[in-house]
Parts: sequence; C-alpha cells; structure tokens
Amino acid sequence: MEFGQFGGAYLPPYLLTAIKEVEDAYNKFKDDPAFIEEFKDLLNTYAGRPSNLYFAKRLTECLGGAKVYLKREDLNHTGSHKINNVIGQALLAKRMGKKKLIAETGAGQHGVATATVAALLGLECEIHMGAVDVEKQALNVYKMQLLGATVVSVQEGLRTLKEAVDSALIKWSTEHESMFYLIGSAVGPHPYPMMVRDFQKVIGIEIKEQILKLENRLPDYVIACVGGGSNAIGAFFDFIPDPTVKLIGVEALGKGLDTNLHAATMTLGQTGVIHGMKTKVLLDDKGEISPVYSISAGLDYPGVGPEHAYLDEIKRVTYFGATDEEAVQAFEYLTLIEGIIPAIESSHALAYAISLAKTLPKDQIIVVNLSGRGDKDVKHIARFRGFEIVD
Ligand SMILES: *Cc1c(COP(=O)(O)O)cnc(C)c1O
Repeated sequence: MEFGQFGGAYLPPYLLTAIKEVEDAYNKFKDDPAFIEEFKDLLNTYAGRPSNLYFAKRLTECLGGAKVYLKREDLNHTGSHKINNVIGQALLAKRMGKKKLIAETGAGQHGVATATVAALLGLECEIHMGAVDVEKQALNVYKMQLLGATVVSVQEGLRTLKEAVDSALIKWSTEHESMFYLIGSAVGPHPYPMMVRDFQKVIGIEIKEQILKLENRLPDYVIACVGGGSNAIGAFFDFIPDPTVKLIGVEALGKGLDTNLHAATMTLGQTGVIHGMKTKVLLDDKGEISPVYSISAGLDYPGVGPEHAYLDEIKRVTYFGATDEEAVQAFEYLTLIEGIIPAIESSHALAYAISLAKTLPKDQIIVVNLSGRGDKDVKHIARFRGFEIVD
C-alpha cells in the first residue's frame, strides 16, 4: 500500500486496464523535466503562481497572539487551489494522447475547473452531475457549458454526487482509449491520491520559500481545511520532514458532532473502502457509508484522502474540526478585519487558527492555507444568517 495500511486500488475488474494506463503514464512523466517545465510554466503564466504569502497584520493585532499569515490560493485563476491539480492532470491526459476529459462534480467547483483546463488545452470535456445538483447549481452548469463542456445530468438513485461518480466511471471504462478521468481531490484509487498531492505540493514549497524570506525561519503551524484533502496535503507535504512545524487539518463539524449533520471523517470515521481507496470512512450503524452534511459543499465528503488517514495514524498531522457557525463567524471576521472574503471551506481552517492564535505568544507563527475565495458563498452565508438575496 502507498500510505501505510491506506491507499490501494479497490476497483471492479472492468476498470483495471484504465487505471493501469494512468499509473504507467504518471510514473513515466512525473520526473520528466519537459513535463515538469510545462506544468510550472502554466502554473505561473495561467494560474498566476506563486500565490502571495500575506501577513495579516490587522487580524494578528486584533487577536493579540501569534502572527498569522495567509497563503493566498484564493488569488489563483478561477479562485482556488483546484486549478493546480486540473492543470497537472490535463497535461498528463494530453501526453497520453487523450482527446477528452471526464469528471464528476457535486457543487460544480471541480466541474468548472476541469472545463476551464479543457478550454485552455483544446480538449473535449464531459462532466457528470446528479440531476438534483444540476438544478441547484444552475450558474456553475452554465459556466461549464460556456467553457465548452457537455454536462450529463444523471437520473439514477438519489441523483446526487454518488450516482454521478458511478455514471462517470462506467462511461470511462467503456471509452478509456480516448478519455482521461480527472479526479478533483487527493482521493480515489492509486495513483490519484499521490498524483494530486504532487500537483498540489507547490503550495507548501512556496510557503516554505516565502516564510524563510519574510521571517528567516519556519512557521510553528500550518493549518488547512480538509474535505478530500488536496489543499491540505499540498500545504503540508513539504513540511512533513520538519519536526518543529505542527500540521493541523480542520474538517467540517456541520451542526455538531452530537448530531448526524457533520462530515467529521477523521474524528468519527472507521477504516474502510470508498471510491476505490482504503482510508477512513464515515459509516452508519449498518456499516453503510453515512450521508454527510456541511454548510460547505467542498467539505461534505464521507471519506478522506488515504495519505491523511496515514499521517493521522503516525501522528504527524493533527485533525480538528469547526462547525458551520464557527466557520461563518470566521468568514465574517476575516472579511471585516482584512477585506478578504474567504471560501467557506477555508473559513473552517481560519476558525481553528483564530482560536489557536489567541492562546499563543506573539513570537509564534501560524500559516493558514486560504484555499479559495468566498464570492461563491456570499448568498449562502446571507441565508444562513436569515436573509434572502434575490437577484
Ligand atoms: C474543493 C475545495 C476544498 C476541498 O477540497 P480539498 O481537496 O479538501 O482541498 C477546499 N477549499 C476550496 C476553496 C475548494 O474549492
């Protein structure tokens, strides 16, 4: 297994050829200087890297404790860290001679990111989405169509993400000669968790360079939100060998751990198999995958990337949570104090960082990975606070 007892590729036989082909290609190109150069070039010229490491001076003063820095992934093209990964995988697809990208999406963020790189690289794009989500996310559906993607509305079962995954996988298995399956987080069967981490580790590499320049030392904490875990593993990876740097992942506690409305996979999950990987999974009494909930569409996932399950087991990363209410308060606070509207996903990491910073002496340094911008969330936050914005 790739990550201690976690990882692997638990797949039905009809997908084994398709996945083997991705693994071979990843092994062939991951250390290829021309491939790495092309990836770096697009990260810089298209995505806008390196993203700033910003010292949040007013936030730090207001909290009265540790210095807080924000890694500004929200400033990337399309507004989050997701662009790093989709560029990497789409370039690999091209090297493999694929004509088409296929992906599934729930809230639509990953679908839009995938459609974006398809447009950039002149690839066809097919996004599978549950019919219920298609209805709820009309704006993202229209964006994907503007970007040239075909959106397939999946009518099976509960007509949400799970059915969209099944539908996209079946389609891929029948047409993998021409299609590349593009996964949106550090999850799924090997080699995806490792590959997505490799495309996202630029975040931590940049943080290290930037903080050494600004402070002449490593940070004491790096904090990131965890859904599938791609922004977090991207921010953490380069710091894993540095024992003085404490790494903290923050997951979504939704309405609270004492309710069934949360996505606390690291806190309450058990070892199991989901989406082709062995990892921590939230299971119900019958041993079935639990329905999950969070105010944040990016964090309501009943599994987690297998590398996080491993880093938890070896105690290199510590995992905490933040509730909807705590995340919304952090969202409002950062907006008010710094003039930065964070994604509601990132606001979970911020919520934990804010409470931690207050308890620490002034010479400590915290870096929070601001995984995305919050423009997409404003309407939803208004509703959470009890008023409806009609446009
Ligand atoms: C998708 C998303 C996430 C959650 O995904 P990870 O793979 O856990 O990083 C977090 N933040 C933002 C802004 C997202 O769009």
